[in-house]
Amino acid sequence: MSDFRLYNTLSRTVEPFTPGDGETVRIYSCGPTVYDPAHVGNFRTFLFNDLLRRALLLEGWQVVQVQNLTDVDDKIIKRAHDTGRSIYEVTEPVTEVFHADRRYLRIQDAEQYPKATTHIPEMIALVERLLEKGVAYKAEDGSVYFAIDRFPGYGKLSRLDTREVKQGARVAQDDYTKENAQDFALWKAAKPEDEATGAVWDAPFGRGRPGWHLECSAMAMKYLGETLDIHCGGIDLVFPHHEDEIAQSEAATGKIFSRFWCHGEFLQIDGTKMSKRLGNITTVKDLRERGVSAAAIRHFIYSTHYRKQMNLSGVGLEASLEAVRRVGELAHRLEAARGGTPELAEAARDGEAAFRAALRDDLNGPEAVAALFMFLQRANAELDQKGRDAASLLEARRVFGLMDSVLDIQPRALRVVVGPDRVDPALETLSGMALAEVAQMEWAVARLQDRLAARAARDFATSDVIRAEVEARGFVVKDTGAGTQLERWR
Ligand SMILES: [Zn+2]
Repeated sequence: MSDFRLYNTLSRTVEPFTPGDGETVRIYSCGPTVYDPAHVGNFRTFLFNDLLRRALLLEGWQVVQVQNLTDVDDKIIKRAHDTGRSIYEVTEPVTEVFHADRRYLRIQDAEQYPKATTHIPEMIALVERLLEKGVAYKAEDGSVYFAIDRFPGYGKLSRLDTREVKQGARVAQDDYTKENAQDFALWKAAKPEDEATGAVWDAPFGRGRPGWHLECSAMAMKYLGETLDIHCGGIDLVFPHHEDEIAQSEAATGKIFSRFWCHGEFLQIDGTKMSKRLGNITTVKDLRERGVSAAAIRHFIYSTHYRKQMNLSGVGLEASLEAVRRVGELAHRLEAARGGTPELAEAARDGEAAFRAALRDDLNGPEAVAALFMFLQRANAELDQKGRDAASLLEARRVFGLMDSVLDIQPRALRVVVGPDRVDPALETLSGMALAEVAQMEWAVARLQDRLAARAARDFATSDVIRAEVEARGFVVKDTGAGTQLERWR
């Protein structure tokens, strides 16, 4: 019996967790709507999913994770229609940005990234099942709705019975066709703009397109079966999205849809909830361009518990940049050391115990980060002793590797030396760079070549201006005997 525990929104308590079959944890995470690049607030949720995934793997379980991509919805259709494109022309480039951002942040690949538009038959089948059971009905407007009055469990996740339902917030003109104002659309009857943008499919109950909630239920059950171990997402999805997913899945199967529901809190900027509407967008691209490494962002996000709200602040990010620099330094020292002291092995064992305990305690990120830094402090002091014990050094390296396999907060440097007419190593040999990053490196290299020319002409004022310009884009510039070293942390 594992003592891994997770907060379950369904019960509002921290409960012991083990996978249903004892071996493989089946997780569904609600993914992005691919009409604009996701902001850092969305990525906080995805980083929480990543920490969960890695912590479960550390427990020795296997993980099968599915994250959907919502590639048909009102906003996508509106944008496609306004710009004379198909929905695919809107969503495909944004999907690429999502994966590039995700990889930059070192978020491990899920096993599946299903798209809504390639799972229409599964969704149609689910609607038919609900119509047959009599819990869904076709309204006068041609859309198919789920009748919440006919599903007794409605409200159990968001506890609708104990809080006020926001009535009228989304009252559309066609509401009079519904039996109950709270009934939600499973299938939306085709409109001219849907036809114009390719967002329509034929179904036995009428031509149209799926509702958002339907997509997640259909794809989750296709890849993970009718009962999942964990369903996660941002806290804003509890109602109505997850409540509606439960209703349509459980009404269709008669089984529990997900044993655990786990929700990540918001990331705020300067005390205001981050959202596209408010206009204070900070994308991963912004962070990248300012030279904030993935290691630093991960450290920053994991230093607050996933169920607590947090603010994105410049001061916090600066502190994280410094913290991960120390992690990189320790990695280097452990690599270079010839041996350790018995106390080094002891620090490693204590560190491992504290680290595992923190993750088992409802994924306590800040405690796990603290365990790493406690180990770091003790390990640095022991490495100063220049011990010669090989076994204790191996133990320290193992534990550091174990911690890093979950947190992944070791910064990696991209370094090139720029001479007047050469770059060493050549940029094309640097692997794993996204296109935007290559373009930035090329730009910085060109500017440093201008700077070398200015220095050769003893124009130091221009040289200083160029240096400041390059450093403002998140690079570190160092003059060395061999040329100018350009460094970027990621
Ligand atoms: Zn979803």
